[in-house]
Amino acid sequence: MASQGERKRFVIIGGGPGGTTCATYAARFGAHVTVVERDIVGGAAHLLDCIPSKAMIATGGAMSMMKDATEMGLARVDVELDFEALRSRITDIEDRLEASMTDLLSSQGVRLIEGTGRLLSANDVEVTTKDGGTELLAADVVVLSTGSRPRVPDWAGVDGLRVLTTRDAYPPPELPEHLIVVGSGVTGVEFVHMFNSFGSEVSLIVSRQQVLPGKDPEVAAVLEQSFIDRGVKLLMGARASSIDADDDGVKVHTDDGRVAHGSHVLLAIGSIPNSENLGLEAAGVETDRGYVKVDHNCRSNVPHIYAAGDLSGRLPLSSVASTQGRKIAEHAMGRHAGPHRHIDYDKAASAIFTDPEIADVGVAEADAFAEGRKIRVTKVPFSVSAKALINNDPRGFVKIVSDPATGVVMGGSIVGRHAAELISVIALAVSAGLTVGDLVESLFVHPALAEVLGEAAE
Ligand SMILES: Cc1cc2nc3c(=O)[nH]c(=O)nc-3n(C[C@H](O)[C@H](O)[C@H](O)COP(=O)(O)OP(=O)(O)OC[C@H]3O[C@@H](n4cnc5c(N)ncnc54)[C@H](O)[C@@H]3O)c2cc1C
Repeated sequence: MASQGERKRFVIIGGGPGGTTCATYAARFGAHVTVVERDIVGGAAHLLDCIPSKAMIATGGAMSMMKDATEMGLARVDVELDFEALRSRITDIEDRLEASMTDLLSSQGVRLIEGTGRLLSANDVEVTTKDGGTELLAADVVVLSTGSRPRVPDWAGVDGLRVLTTRDAYPPPELPEHLIVVGSGVTGVEFVHMFNSFGSEVSLIVSRQQVLPGKDPEVAAVLEQSFIDRGVKLLMGARASSIDADDDGVKVHTDDGRVAHGSHVLLAIGSIPNSENLGLEAAGVETDRGYVKVDHNCRSNVPHIYAAGDLSGRLPLSSVASTQGRKIAEHAMGRHAGPHRHIDYDKAASAIFTDPEIADVGVAEADAFAEGRKIRVTKVPFSVSAKALINNDPRGFVKIVSDPATGVVMGGSIVGRHAAELISVIALAVSAGLTVGDLVESLFVHPALAEVLGEAAE
């Protein structure tokens, strides 16, 4: 079927990390690649999610460090948030990332069309271009990577002014005096941390009895304590059920009759896939609750149609979306196929950019106990680390989970400064099948926080 000089024709709908990574690899492998993107190259990841949130957290972190300056032997430094400077800093980062991604795609010969794509059939994609025109594309391989968007319940009355989703908050129209965050998953706690460090009063509505439900309770407890120490008000075991908003502020009612008063409310209660109007039915693509059902190769029930990223209903992480994109290019171009190349989602490292940072990978201690698996758990606090004392931040710990018989590293959690960077060592050990002995024998830098990894492996 391929006709661009016998090159396979890839049509990729959605230019986030899933779509763009697939595009660059497929082009490198010799395919003729077209990416259709309706908004920003780099995707929601660049414009709306990972990058702006981490840029704001970095600014909040800089403020917190300045506030603690006296403990580092400096005279007091006064800091004040410049909201407009923050806004242009975020725009600048986004512009630079979009420009570098656009350059990368064009250097690989990828055709980029600004517009909205949908399947007319299993091999035909229709694009409604930004200027209102229509273009038809024939495809040998279709990759659907349209991402997801925040879930907004009917009762919320989101207005983008006082009642916000995560996408209204980079930054929000004004700095909230008192922000109520609904949802204590990864996104919710990052927003609590971010606005608390900017000086806003923050309340968090937690539906269970633990923030970060599903995470190691010991890890969640450190974050919970840090929130309490920083004056965050926690409403535990409560579900938001309605919101009243007017010019003076917001009232969030919970299902157990409590009412939280604030100036703004932010909903962080999950996401839904961008799968409507994609022509999935016309192409015969099966879905499950809106997510495209995929196999180990990210392939749908239609053999030449793949899905990458959030739309595939797997781990909603930018890093996972990129890996899926690369694997799709490899599989569709007949490279490196086989079960050993399947993605093992259980080995994906993830991080929560709070203060302290939290990161984990692989088997969690609590899950292993619940499943009755034999594990060895070793834990060392950062308070033993010279570098942690030098940094004036001895909070947190490193925990390593290993196989008691072989010593193979099965997983780990880190709570503390730079946890998101340090977890890479354990992630490498998990994916490469290294043992705790391998970690102990590694010659880490001194003084460095990484030394604690070697000690935790002992
Ligand atoms: C607040 C927040 C913070 C996050 N932080 C992190 C983080 O720190 N680290 C991390 O790994 N993950 C993070 N994530 C998750 C991460 O953003 C997503 O997993 C990632 O963006 C998924 O990539 P994707 O390629 O599937 O889709 P997206 O990045 O959503 O890109 C999809 C693209 O498709 C386009 N599109 C949609 N429909 C069409 C159509 N019909 N035609 C053409 N184009 C279309 C959209 O415009 C968009 O550009 C965060 C998420 C949120 C909500």
